[in-house]
Amino acid sequence: MDKEWSEKNKRIQVLLRKETTYKEGIELLIKFRGEMFEQVSQIVNGYPVEAFYQMPFANAKGYHSKTLSYSIWHIFRIEDIVAHTLIAGDEQILATGDYQKKIGSPIITTGNEFQGQEIAEFSKKLNIRALYEYAKEVMISTNSLLTKLEYSQMKRRFSDADKVRLAESGCVSPDENAIWLIDYWCGKDIRGLIKMPFSRHWIMHIEAMRRIKNKLCRNARKGVDPVAYCGLSCNHCFLGEWCGSCRTEYNVCSFATLYEDKRCPNVVCCNEKNIDGCYECSELEYCTKGFYTPDNDGAASAKAQAMFIRKYGKKAFLEVHDKLHERFDFAKTQEILGQNMYEGLKILENEYNS
Ligand code: SF4
Ligand code: SF4
Repeated sequence: MDKEWSEKNKRIQVLLRKETTYKEGIELLIKFRGEMFEQVSQIVNGYPVEAFYQMPFANAKGYHSKTLSYSIWHIFRIEDIVAHTLIAGDEQILATGDYQKKIGSPIITTGNEFQGQEIAEFSKKLNIRALYEYAKEVMISTNSLLTKLEYSQMKRRFSDADKVRLAESGCVSPDENAIWLIDYWCGKDIRGLIKMPFSRHWIMHIEAMRRIKNKLCRNARKGVDPVAYCGLSCNHCFLGEWCGSCRTEYNVCSFATLYEDKRCPNVVCCNEKNIDGCYECSELEYCTKGFYTPDNDGAASAKAQAMFIRKYGKKAFLEVHDKLHERFDFAKTQEILGQNMYEGLKILENEYNS
């Protein structure tokens, strides 16, 4: 488990145990859920539709053996069922927001009943935008429920009537891989439910989503030119796990994500000029497009790299990057190359000739 997330979760659970710190624990939990949801948002906003039904770890044991779509559906269906049908005793967001139809889901259950390829087939049917809107509404609704819950309710338990209500809702499949959920949820008190579906369950599945998308990015980059259009090296980029390169559909470069079509202006411009990258452009030094926007603190270092590629070629460029990364500990190239493109070029040349 992500160490930072695990520590945060532990702290929240400790705070929730005492009446004097309970409210602080709820506030922290809501903040933490927001932080985790940010990762879901970045994935939904960054990757192509096909990414959401791929199973790059299909035969693995664990949450990462699913798809991105399935993971979102599963996290938020469980939360919706538990928050509304079980705890609040009111209607689920799936019904009030007419989300089954909007998402295009053939089921209203949690999806636990699906195995192997069934997960991919199910995922293909889901409208990811609508699914994301559903997830967001469920999160907001649960956050509101959490703020209304009092410490005195934490020990509230559930009865056989609650089990019957859950079974009759049709939201849990009678399949042996799913039906156990009813006993599992009803065997907990409210504090136990806050711990599992509302926090730890998120951590496990969102971490699995990170593994899935990292693998999809690595797969997308296989055999693709590792030099980005603007002159950066995708092989050495600190966003390498998030971004599948601006030469693929998995482009999550911060500049690309600023635009609705997810296309970085440098990529668009190079394509229009029919050139391989900005390093082939005579306007490079004076350009202010996309990544070269003057207020981008990485602009000068990207230009320095593009100028180096123009002079010495991509092979030499990638070798220099290997050397720099061996010698220095840095994430962004501007930390080494600075804010002056000519100075940055000199640093690269010195490294090349050393
Ligand atoms: S952010 Fe840019 S340099 Fe980094 S991996 Fe993506 S396209 Fe490549
Ligand atoms: S004008 Fe700018 S963005 Fe376009 S190819 Fe030249 S350097 Fe790249």
